[in-house]
Amino acid sequence: MKLYVLLALPVITVLFACKNSSDAKAVETAHKDSATVTKPKQPFEGVAFASKMDLACGMMLSAGVTDTAHYKDKIYGFCSKECKEDFLKTPEAFLASKYRK
Ligand SMILES: [Zn+2]
Repeated sequence: MKLYVLLALPVITVLFACKNSSDAKAVETAHKDSATVTKPKQPFEGVAFASKMDLACGMMLSAGVTDTAHYKDKIYGFCSKECKEDFLKTPEAFLASKYRK
């Protein structure tokens, strides 16, 4: 039971942090996942992303990718269209923050 909460909380938090336009759907998905404890179907499974996270909001792509962007021959995954558009406005800035660590 405690594990379910630990799994679901970060997903919900991140989805809201991303200003996902389909909040209701996102919560529903997270809820369903926490109930079944199975990995959600990844529409982009097998795609080699250049980063393990959504560079716009920092969400791990393992939590779900709904959009991708190609930039300099690399593929970047994003949790939402908004994040992708944010990234494409200033890709260099997002990439710089990624490699700053
Ligand atoms: Zn995002």
